[in-house]
Amino acid sequence: MNRTEIATLGEFGLIDRINQQFVNVLPQTIKGIGDDAAVIDNGGNEYLLISTDLLVEGVHFDLSYTPLKHLGYKAVAANVSDIAAMNGLPRQITVSIAMSNRFSVEAVDELYAGIKAACEDYKIDLVGGDTSASRSGLVISVTATGSVAKNAVAYRSGAKPNDIVCVTGDLGGAFLGLQALEREKQEFLANPDMQPQLDEQAYVVGRLLKPAARTDVVYELQELGVVPTSMIDISDGLASELLHICKQSNVGAAIFEENLPIEDATILAADEFKISHITAALNGGEDYELLFTISQADYEKIKNLSQVTLIGYITNDPTKVEFGTKSGGRFPVQAQGWQK
Ligand code: ADP
Ligand code: MG
Repeated sequence: MNRTEIATLGEFGLIDRINQQFVNVLPQTIKGIGDDAAVIDNGGNEYLLISTDLLVEGVHFDLSYTPLKHLGYKAVAANVSDIAAMNGLPRQITVSIAMSNRFSVEAVDELYAGIKAACEDYKIDLVGGDTSASRSGLVISVTATGSVAKNAVAYRSGAKPNDIVCVTGDLGGAFLGLQALEREKQEFLANPDMQPQLDEQAYVVGRLLKPAARTDVVYELQELGVVPTSMIDISDGLASELLHICKQSNVGAAIFEENLPIEDATILAADEFKISHITAALNGGEDYELLFTISQADYEKIKNLSQVTLIGYITNDPTKVEFGTKSGGRFPVQAQGWQK
């Protein structure tokens, strides 16, 4: 037998390889692997949505600067975000945990206090899970169900030439929050008497530790009668997610630097870390905003939504996914999103 390193395929290559080995046989399976959530038809006017995520200590989170309560909240919010990315609303979650004996009952209480807060905020029920010992730290897996009207489901694959590209909220903050916490950690390790200096970075740290899934925007679009032609959530960075939409929709896109929504606090943090705030907005992960496209006909309906920014448009040529700079340059959008 040959041995192939997983790194030669990468995360997406590996998922493709798994996907190729399975053919869905049930007529109820409307969408399987390949979108933010699976789509299932159990009759009626709505689809059932299912999404799952795995968070591994040391890979996805560092407990030296992530409070367990925040971690619990974020694990739920990340799944709710995947449901929102189908233009759906969340309903139930299951939560599975594996932990080593380093964790106490009080630690579990903290984790679940965060999970409970998220259940209250998103009006969802915790309906099950699994519990196991672990040899290496904490592992959390959350599965969320959701629902969406059949005529309102938004896939990654529906973008059409001339559609408008939109994002919710602002970008790049979570990535800079991570830089701030990593720097504090290194300084603390070098000098344990040091007090953390995070006041100036409060906004970006909050973006990393307390992400909010944009169900608010899903509600707003519903009220306005706007169904996005395509949608994805921004977990790996705007560039990576835009490429997913373009690839699956077989279209190109042009987005523009001057339109990118970036908070002043994010720009200040980027300056401090000598990182381009544009790079942070394009490639920083974990903002959990929504990237979506709408047809030109819906422009008037959404142009006044304060939480939505129009950043560009969809084009015909799938080989051209481009970023236009303020000075008029055009560059190919490249994915440097987090591969984990
Ligand atoms: P997201 O970032 O939105 O959570 P992912 O990139 O993790 O999405 O996953 C993309 C698609 O691949 C999803 O449909 C997901 O369910 C599927 N997927 C990921 N890992 C596996 C796996 N090990 N087996 C089957 N499907 C998978
Ligand atoms: Mg997603």
